[in-house]
Amino acid sequence: SIEARDVAYHMHSYTNARAHQETGPLVIDRGEGAYVFDNTGKKYLEAMAGLWSTAVGFSEQRLVDAATAQMQKLPYYHNFASRSHGPAVDLAEKLIQLAPVPMSKVFFTNSGSEANDTVLKLLWYRSNAMGQPQRKKIISRLRGYHGVTIASASMTGLPNNHRSFDLPIANVLHTTCPHHYRDAHEGESEEDFATRLAAELEEMILAEGPDTIMAMIGEPVMGAGGVVVPPATYWDKVQAVLKKYDILLVADEVICGFGRTGKLFGSMTFAMKPDIMVMSKQLTSTYFPLSALMMNERVFEPIADESNKIGVLGHGVTGAAHPVGAAIALENIKIIEERGLVANAAEVGAYMQEQLRTLSDHPLVGEVRGIGLIAAVELVLDKESKTAFEKPGQLGAKTAARLLENGVISRAMLDALAFCPPMIVTRSDIDGMVSTLRRTLDEVA
Ligand code: PLP
Repeated sequence: SIEARDVAYHMHSYTNARAHQETGPLVIDRGEGAYVFDNTGKKYLEAMAGLWSTAVGFSEQRLVDAATAQMQKLPYYHNFASRSHGPAVDLAEKLIQLAPVPMSKVFFTNSGSEANDTVLKLLWYRSNAMGQPQRKKIISRLRGYHGVTIASASMTGLPNNHRSFDLPIANVLHTTCPHHYRDAHEGESEEDFATRLAAELEEMILAEGPDTIMAMIGEPVMGAGGVVVPPATYWDKVQAVLKKYDILLVADEVICGFGRTGKLFGSMTFAMKPDIMVMSKQLTSTYFPLSALMMNERVFEPIADESNKIGVLGHGVTGAAHPVGAAIALENIKIIEERGLVANAAEVGAYMQEQLRTLSDHPLVGEVRGIGLIAAVELVLDKESKTAFEKPGQLGAKTAARLLENGVISRAMLDALAFCPPMIVTRSDIDGMVSTLRRTLDEVA
C-alpha cells in the first residue's frame, strides 16, 4: 500500500520519526478550492491552507496555465552573473510597487528559511562593508518562527528547533514574546504590557552594546509560535526603541504577506516600517517553492559597494528567481488583486474571528485570538490558572486529531489550535468549520 511504502521509504518533516512507523501517513490525493481529499475519498476543509500558504485554494487552473506556458517557453534559467529573464524582472518590479514603504531591490530564494538565512548573511556583509565588524548581532523573539536552516533556525525562538541541533549560533539574541494571554502580569493592559516589552528590549540592547546590533527580525503576527497577535501599541513602541539606536527592522512576512491579516502586508496592519521584508508561501500560493526579500536603499547600497570591492556578491542559489515560480507568483498576485482576496480576508476574516469567539464559553477554551484569516483557539483544562495540561501539547494534539477525523484540518501548536484557511474561503465554509470545532470540543471534553 502507499501507506506501507511511505513508512518504508519516506522520512517526514516535523514528525516523530519513530511514532510514524506505527501510525503511518495521512495521504492527500487531490484538492478542490478550500478542500482536499485523502486517498479514501474523504473530504477535509483545509483550514490551514496547507502550511499557512495557499491563498487561492487547491485547484486554481490559472496558476497551472501560467506554469505550463512558462515551462514551454523557458522552463529554467538563473540570475547569476547578470543573467535575467522576464518573469524575474516583472515580479521584482511588482513587489517593489506593492511594498508599503519605499524599497529598492528584491533578492530571490526558494524557501522562507533560505530567505531568512540570506537576511543574516547580507546584514553581516553590510556591517563589514560599513567598517563596523563588531555590529553582527540580530534580535529575534522567543516563540518567533523564521525557519529551519542554521541561521533561520537560530533566529526561531522555539525549543524544538534548537534542541539536539546545537543551535542557536552566536550573534542571535532572543527577546521576550508579546503573548498577552500567557505572559502579561495580572491586570496588565495591552498597552502596559507593550511598554514593558519595549523596555526589556531596550535593556537588552544596552546590555549588549547598541553598536553590536544590526537588526531586529519579527513576524507582524507570530504564526507557528501560536498565532500571537501583538498587543496594542507593541510595534510602535518597539520601532521607537530600534530607531533610537539605529537598528534595522526586518519584517518576516512569510505568513502575513499577501493579505493574511486583512491588508496586503502585516506591516500595513501594524504600521511597521521595515528596512527588509521577507516573503514566501502566499507569494505563489506555494504552487511552487519561491521566496524573496525586499530591501531599501540603506540596506542595498553598502552591500553593492562591498560586492564591488570584492568583485562579486558570493551568494545565491541555483533555482533563485526561477522563471516558473516567478510566472506563478505574478499570476497568483493578479488573482488576489482581481478577485479582491485581501478584502475577502478582511471581511470573511472578521466573520471567522467573531464566530470562533462564540466558542469562548466552552470549558476547554482559554482564549480565542487572531486577526483577519489567521486565528488560534487556545485550549486549557482550567480556565482560571490557564494551565492544568496533563502534558504540554497533549490536549492540542488530541483535539486536532479528533477535528481531523471530523473533516477539518487544523494545526496544533502545543495546546493552541491554529486556523488559517485559504483566502478564497466563504462564510459558509467558516460556519462548517466552527460548528465542527464545537462538536469536536464537546467530544474531547
Ligand atoms: N518565516 C515564517 C514566518 C514562517 O512561518 C516560515 C514557515 O512556516 C518560515 C519563515 C520558513 O519558511 P520555509 O518553511 O519555506 O523555509
